[in-house]
Amino acid sequence: MSIFGNNILGKNIFGHKDTDPAPESSAAEPSVQKSDAEWRRELTPEEYHVLRQSGTERPYTGEYWDTHTAGVYQCRACGTELFTSNEKFDSHCGWPSFFAPLAEGTVRYIHDRTLGMERVEVRCATCDSHLGHVFEGEGYPTPTDQRYCINSVSLKLVPRGEPQVSRAEAEA
Ligand SMILES: [Zn+2]
Repeated sequence: MSIFGNNILGKNIFGHKDTDPAPESSAAEPSVQKSDAEWRRELTPEEYHVLRQSGTERPYTGEYWDTHTAGVYQCRACGTELFTSNEKFDSHCGWPSFFAPLAEGTVRYIHDRTLGMERVEVRCATCDSHLGHVFEGEGYPTPTDQRYCINSVSLKLVPRGEPQVSRAEAEA
């Protein structure tokens, strides 16, 4: 049984137990598509593990779990803007947490039953990389009562007011 409610951003992403096993089959193709070899080449081993293999960084170890810098969080894999500091809140769960994505359609949702839990996985809609999970109804005092629990390693913070730099420049 689902611990989740039924609605998020007007879409029925929680509690769709009857339409599996392929609820994601109707999703649009991601516009950024690369081979596994390309992703391995472009990402660090930790980034590859989380983004492309749906891994999870250890809590309280990521770069952004306790960050309060104003800015925009991009997808670490493709650079799409996914979240902003306006929706970030202190969940004290050890991962950066947001109560909503930057805009509807920037992320996509997949039902995840691994580890014996019923969860909703959050992926970048542009490149289909794993970001984290979204939980609902936990009682956080936010406008949506949702917690987008996102791996720091899946994100790249661009502080407000600073020019955006490419991935290559940032790592040079
Ligand atoms: Zn992406």
